[in-house]
Amino acid sequence: TDLSRIRNFSIVAHIDHGKSTLADRLIQLTGTVAERDMKEQMLDAMDIERERGITIKANTVRIEYPAKDGHTYILNLIDTPGHVDFAYEVSRSMRAVEGSLLVVDASQGVEAQTLANVYQAIDADHEIVPVLNKVDLPAAEPERVREQIEDVIGIDASDAVLISAKTGVGIPEVLEAIVTRLPAPKGDRDAPLKAMLVDSYYDAYLGVVVLIRVIDGVIRKGDRIRMMRTGGLYPIDRLGVFTPKMKDIPELGPGEMGFLTASIKQVRDTRVGDTITHERKGATEPLPGFKPSQPVVFCGLFPVDSAQFEDLRDAIEKLALNDASFSFEMETSAALGFGFRCGFLGLLHLEVIRDRLEREYDIELITTAPSVIYHVYLRDGTMTELHNPADMPDMTHVDHIEEPRIKATILVPDDYLGDVLKLCQDRRGIQLDLTYAGSRAMVVYDLPLNEVVFDFYDRLKSVTKGYASFDYQMIGYREDYLVKMQVLVNEEPVDALSMMVHRDRAEMRGRAMCEKLKELIPRHMFKIPIQAAIGGRVIARETLSALRKDVTAKCYGGDATRKRKLLDKQKAGKKKMRQFGKVEIPQSAFISALKMD
Ligand code: GDP
Ligand code: MG
Repeated sequence: TDLSRIRNFSIVAHIDHGKSTLADRLIQLTGTVAERDMKEQMLDAMDIERERGITIKANTVRIEYPAKDGHTYILNLIDTPGHVDFAYEVSRSMRAVEGSLLVVDASQGVEAQTLANVYQAIDADHEIVPVLNKVDLPAAEPERVREQIEDVIGIDASDAVLISAKTGVGIPEVLEAIVTRLPAPKGDRDAPLKAMLVDSYYDAYLGVVVLIRVIDGVIRKGDRIRMMRTGGLYPIDRLGVFTPKMKDIPELGPGEMGFLTASIKQVRDTRVGDTITHERKGATEPLPGFKPSQPVVFCGLFPVDSAQFEDLRDAIEKLALNDASFSFEMETSAALGFGFRCGFLGLLHLEVIRDRLEREYDIELITTAPSVIYHVYLRDGTMTELHNPADMPDMTHVDHIEEPRIKATILVPDDYLGDVLKLCQDRRGIQLDLTYAGSRAMVVYDLPLNEVVFDFYDRLKSVTKGYASFDYQMIGYREDYLVKMQVLVNEEPVDALSMMVHRDRAEMRGRAMCEKLKELIPRHMFKIPIQAAIGGRVIARETLSALRKDVTAKCYGGDATRKRKLLDKQKAGKKKMRQFGKVEIPQSAFISALKMD
């Protein structure tokens, strides 16, 4: 295909601003899908992810569009989830295209994910076409939003396209804008093959399907290829494009996007951002900027029923085959038994994996408190990465500890600004910026990631009644006064409840934890002290008083069925208890104690 007749683009938007609806309209208007096959949300990467339970980070579709200039263009649309967890994958896929449609809901205006996503597009040197959606709504204020785009984002929005993805108004203009305002790709057909690995996923029938963007050279069915970073060699079985149905084609040249299959066994063997070349006469230099995505949030996953440990192992191994960014290793906990310490790209990633384990593999899980990676500098000058508070070295060997920090951008209506500032302040935030865009404030904070992984997002939603939007990026490590807080039940440390906290917040956290546990642990025949401690020093304490006598005895009475019911209930309850020294702690206590509120 003639390079000048190709346009590759993505759509960037805040959630619910209409990205999927617009993609559907583009597909529909160009007749890419027959009307009778049209269903809503043809392309949405997150929807597919939910439906099929696989972690898809990018999805492409090839659209043929006969433009007003009389030529037919090939438009390759790449859809990405735009969630912070997958920031690296999204930034790679942005590099696979030359332009973006920036969709903003004209009744809402610019939101935090609008900013985060458009900055990625700007970083990738995209030409950007602003599109104001939902102009059919009475509340739409396209003029105000146009100004806001210019003020807040700093790009020219004077020829923004006004559309309603719902009614179809303005869609032909969007297609023309793609052709006339976005640049054609560049590339050399005669150079050695260089194709970017944009994403991959496992398909039960086809094996691993790899999405690619050809930069230079030509890739053909049957070619033998090499992954330049992982070194894997494979013969191509199928080569094709998504229309959005898979359609085989004999070759893909420079500027084109499509898929290949090559008897690749596991998604782990494919790395987003890798360069694919020919086994012989291939390129010598891979494409620049590759870095594998690294887990940033860790937590322990333990089966509620310890007999399910082997099932959990099988399930985790299976999931890991198809998710290169998910890591795991075995962990034992005195309180929770055998389980796994797992690493995730973020909280959404954690939730997706945990849900799949529970739903698809039918394993009930206890999740320990999520933790970030701390850099622990020892007195001997070495540094260790701490993934689990349980592994914290003795404080006498520790010189100082650094924690990961993020730059968080929050957009919020004026009315809630005070609550947001307080929340950020409470979470040890440092305000970097505060600006206004109409009746909304944009606040930028430097925050410790560890304060965000707990429940920051939920708190933010609740204090702003859902009106705030939030996005973040990692900015690096910084030293702070961090300590390991332990919880002791009946003088015994419960490792699953250990956590890293800032020294100034330790008392508060410790007190909250002890109070909660006092509610959650049933009374025993003896008195049980519940304590929070740093090193050997107790910083908070509650005492669970003893049961005086067997008060339950008399309620059995003579009623046999009632007695049976009670006994059954007790037995069921027993199974969900963990013996801990002399104390029995219900599983539910761990789950609840680790939820912050
Ligand atoms: P996404 O999260 O950006 O993919 O947003 P969706 O495409 O899923 O749209 C979010 C919601 O907005 C859905 O309920 C759509 O039906 C609705 N929507 C999308 N475009 C329009 C529009 O032009 N007008 C109106 N009134 N609603 C729209
Ligand atoms: Mg969507």
